Amino acid sequence: MKAIRRFTVRTVLPEELAALGRLAANLRWAWHVPTREVFAAVDPALWEAVDHDPLRLLGEVGAERLAELAADEAFRARLRAAADDLDGYLTEPRWYQGLPRDTGAEPPAAIAYFSAEYGLTAALPQYSGGLGILAGDHLKSASDLGVPLIGVGLLYRHGYFSQSLSPEGWQLEEYPELDPRGLPVTRLRHPDGAPAEVRIGLPGDRGLTAHVWVARVGRVPLLLLDADHEANDAELRRVTDRLYGGGTEHRLRQELLLGIGGLRAVRAYCALTGHPAPEVFHMNEGHAGFLGLERVREYVTGDGLTFEQAVEATRAGTVFTTHTPVPAGIDRFPRELVQRHFADDGTVEGLPPDQVMALGTENYEGGDPNVFNMAVMGMRLAQRVNGVSRLHGAVSREMFRGLWPGFDADEVPITSITNGVHARTWVAEEAQELARRMVADSDEFERPEGWRKVTGADERDLWEMRRTLRRRLVEDARRRLRRSWRRRGASHAELGWIDDVLDPDVLTIGFARRVPSYKRLTLMLRDRERLRRLLLHPERPVQIVISGKAHPADEGGKRLIQEIVRFADDPAVRHRVVFLPDYDMAVARSLVQGSDVWLNNPLRPLEACGTSGMKVALNGGLNLSVRDGWWDEWFDGSNGWAIPTADNVADPDRRDDLEAAALYSLIEEQVAPLFYDHDEGGLPKRWLEMVKHTLVSLGPKVLATRMVRDYVRELYQGAADSSRSLAADGLAGVRELAAWKQRVVQAWPGVHVEHVEAAGTADPPQAGDELDVRATLVLGDLDPADVRVEAALGRVGPEDELVDPSLVRLEPVAQEAPDGPLVRYAGRIPLHRAGAFGYTVRVLPDHPLLRHPAELGLIVAPEPPGEMRDGAVLR
Ligand SMILES: *Cc1c(COP(=O)(O)O)cnc(C)c1O
Repeated sequence: MKAIRRFTVRTVLPEELAALGRLAANLRWAWHVPTREVFAAVDPALWEAVDHDPLRLLGEVGAERLAELAADEAFRARLRAAADDLDGYLTEPRWYQGLPRDTGAEPPAAIAYFSAEYGLTAALPQYSGGLGILAGDHLKSASDLGVPLIGVGLLYRHGYFSQSLSPEGWQLEEYPELDPRGLPVTRLRHPDGAPAEVRIGLPGDRGLTAHVWVARVGRVPLLLLDADHEANDAELRRVTDRLYGGGTEHRLRQELLLGIGGLRAVRAYCALTGHPAPEVFHMNEGHAGFLGLERVREYVTGDGLTFEQAVEATRAGTVFTTHTPVPAGIDRFPRELVQRHFADDGTVEGLPPDQVMALGTENYEGGDPNVFNMAVMGMRLAQRVNGVSRLHGAVSREMFRGLWPGFDADEVPITSITNGVHARTWVAEEAQELARRMVADSDEFERPEGWRKVTGADERDLWEMRRTLRRRLVEDARRRLRRSWRRRGASHAELGWIDDVLDPDVLTIGFARRVPSYKRLTLMLRDRERLRRLLLHPERPVQIVISGKAHPADEGGKRLIQEIVRFADDPAVRHRVVFLPDYDMAVARSLVQGSDVWLNNPLRPLEACGTSGMKVALNGGLNLSVRDGWWDEWFDGSNGWAIPTADNVADPDRRDDLEAAALYSLIEEQVAPLFYDHDEGGLPKRWLEMVKHTLVSLGPKVLATRMVRDYVRELYQGAADSSRSLAADGLAGVRELAAWKQRVVQAWPGVHVEHVEAAGTADPPQAGDELDVRATLVLGDLDPADVRVEAALGRVGPEDELVDPSLVRLEPVAQEAPDGPLVRYAGRIPLHRAGAFGYTVRVLPDHPLLRHPAELGLIVAPEPPGEMRDGAVLR
């Protein structure tokens, strides 16, 4: 029998145990140890069997056991305590509620956060990798901080995929069907009980209707749209079948549903629950870009704005986060496909198709005129754009500078907020317990002093904790390996060797990731003989636990997995290297907790941030990584190891050889000797020193609560402020800004720098002196109030550019008789140091409602040299 539709019957709990249902319905159980302990106590063996999933537990536990628990006073007391704790967590004021409110900068009433995937718990498999895990950690931390976030995503009926291996080590994919009624989600309903639904238009007068499910992530509601709705035909019901599956049009439909349907779901949710309307909209990567278009439509049809005005209003309240420096990772659609969806009878009625198309057009050098780029649209519809680590911010400014022509990369308005991880999700209970013993108030973990207290723990306890976690990883790995080999066709009798796989006292290296080529899964296999020697070293062996999924369409990635699996299948080394199939949050937890060392060897700078190494650091593990993403920023020379890179070697094979050799040497000469250097008491003192230093130096930084606070302070608050100043007085600012921009764009070709000169008070100028810069400009139809004129002074770089210039604003010089169309500007730049300098003058648009001078991508500088009289270098 094929095409079985699954359904789930929920248990009726005795009244005394009703709180169990409430606890299971809020995903806070996923990171709250006492709540998990209550569920474990319901039936410890069953709790293991259902992979720590409370709904499955409650679905399978027998009525007798429930009756027993209902009569068990001690259990009921624990249950009550957990339920009271949840109530307190959901209602008490938290960090956000304590933000100052009297300074005129009221924090945003709510923030809507849109993401194509969410990794919250293995029991809600709606993620493929880092992007989703990050979104999950963002929601959980927002909840912990009391940030009024509403999450928006899709409910995929088959999630991503689950991975197993063929006997030959080839990745096999399965797509088990998920029944939403068996997941920790409920329907959004109208007061009369009717389920809420949203509908979006599709070409050919078709519509796509979706259910709205709500997952409770602590205080944060997560709305999940599900196209498997009776109103849709069979094809459209499959729109939300799989994450990142299907063809281009399928993907486009998913993103239309996420962005447009998602905003409609937010509107419905706020109307039905009284939740305040979001003032800020956060697009987590380009998949969510259509959200901006739907907001534009709201302003056009609801407030009577023009398209240009509506874009300004939308931009002010929108934050866009880019997550990949890999051009192939950017979401792009064939132009004509998108065009078809926004043509006359299109998806978002009321928007001019040409202007919609212009938003996603790559009309810059190196751009492809035939594609519609979701990240580009996201950036055009968001006033605030950020990358996810300092290095990634710089790489993104370079990568997207075409959108701000005329500006140097370092002036491109893309900032960065480095990702973080949700500690309570990723840190082992034993490690949390050890930390709690040393630090009473969990707020202290936001500061290094709090972590310093943690490292005051007895070294013996710290090492015992590490050994416990390593032993648990070893046991978990054996269990998973056995399961994997059974599926690969081995009989129990052949698998006795698995009992001796891995050693709880051997230095354990963890390595787990998705398998795009830039992550270089197989770099460690570059010199197999050398790797074998490391694994089998008589005194200082290492063991490696590996896990990872390749995208189902990525044959190359699957080949890499097969290479690793085959290497690990070799009886000579199979006790020291294992591949665990089906990398998910459960495997990840086990690995990041139990590994002594976390290996990461991406091709720099293609890892935007990476977060798994942060999870390891919080568990007392050490990082061994290429200086990419977050590690480039926070490696301090003694909180782990940096694998030297051969960035400037053009031949990729040679680069891999060099970097692999550096990796082997580090393990051989530094990592392993440190790990095995025990004192008389059996403690690896110097290793533990490094662990402590890791905790103090990284602990406060890698927390997702730090990240969410940064988002609130640096982006959400500003977006709310910008949005409010544009919205005041019936959107007067929107109209003004849009009209001004239009005028400036039209008049800009008439702006010129006629003449620039500079003189010091002495000749030649001396350090300590000031350079008196004068410029004569033609402003055409613009007024001095429309522009800012700046002089830039700096050293001259190899390409005749100014390096790290200091900028000084020039002011119009009052004149008795205006000099025809010429306007004169002057200002003084202090000369702090001696040396050879260059200077130049530039003109930028300026308006109080403009957030960044580069926003319009307009700049005028004088025509190159020749014009300069006094020998100063001009760019
Ligand atoms: C943390 C985590 C990631 C992110 O890993 P990076 O390789 O560091 O980006 C991916 N998948 C899972 C399951 C994770 O837990």
